[in-house]
Amino acid sequence: MKTIFTFVPSRTHEFPDHPERPGRLDVLEPLLHSMDAEKIEATRATHEQITRVHQPQMIKAIEEVCKQGPGIIDHAPTYVTQTSYEDALLAAGGVIACMRAVIHGDAKNAFAIVRPPGHHAEPDRAMGFCIFNNIAIAAREALENGMERVMVIDYDAHHGNGTQAACMDNDRFGFISTHQWGIYPGTGWINDAPHAKGRLVNVPLHAYAGDETFPRVADKIFKPVVELFRPQMLFISAGFDAHWNDPITSLGLSTQGFFNISKKLVELAEEYCDGKIVFVLEGGYDPHNVANGAAAVFDALTNSPLSVAPKDSCLYTDPDHGARIDDILKWHGMKS
Ligand SMILES: [Zn+2]
Repeated sequence: MKTIFTFVPSRTHEFPDHPERPGRLDVLEPLLHSMDAEKIEATRATHEQITRVHQPQMIKAIEEVCKQGPGIIDHAPTYVTQTSYEDALLAAGGVIACMRAVIHGDAKNAFAIVRPPGHHAEPDRAMGFCIFNNIAIAAREALENGMERVMVIDYDAHHGNGTQAACMDNDRFGFISTHQWGIYPGTGWINDAPHAKGRLVNVPLHAYAGDETFPRVADKIFKPVVELFRPQMLFISAGFDAHWNDPITSLGLSTQGFFNISKKLVELAEEYCDGKIVFVLEGGYDPHNVANGAAAVFDALTNSPLSVAPKDSCLYTDPDHGARIDDILKWHGMKS
């Protein structure tokens, strides 16, 4: 079965000197035709779908503020333009289209390359360059489309606070986030959700955690958590800002590292979720890293060897995370 993708570049969602810009996709876009995957068209998410995650008054406020033209709506800074409301609906709809194709068996797996990104957007507010929480909206939609349990695994360099908020009180919605500790948005410590042990798992990492740490976290944390929670589908918040030379963060992955972690996630989906997995673009502010990282994701999804070989391994030593991993497992009752 085939791998599919959607591409929602939102060309007019842009703001002067802002890192979350259409140009993030400029290196990737000309390469998309050479990926071993079929493009599907995105359609806008419906109001009903968005309201499964966001409050109606928040959605209305976004629609209204966009009509007024370009402006900053939070201190991240998050911006909108006149097209941002429609762009955000299409971004969420692109993830839903991928999810539906995978659930219905029209595709083996998928990659939703969309912007604006989504994982910081909380039920009652847009934040962190994100308008609507694309991945949470699609995950909730999957729960309405026959899935009993779904899980988001977020390897963006930042904590997926919006996704955490969206699944906080939903026993059918699991979440694991790896992120650099101490940076925006400041949430994502191990004990954020004492009522949801084993289902809502935060993995705060030291700066330059990278190619050694991520596979270790996948084996020691992702796998047992997935085994315990038993999701029927995985959604991956793929943020290529976890690359070591991203201009705004300091984790330590290389392109090979993105491939390794993506491959482990695809294998987890094959073992526990009948192969059902949808990757969703979040951050990543160097266009070359985004293109290489996306190629690595496509290679993992299509069970191919890594097709790109930039010499981009991290220049800094990957700090040891053995004690941190133990603390996380202990908190979740998975280690005594
Ligand atoms: Zn990020």
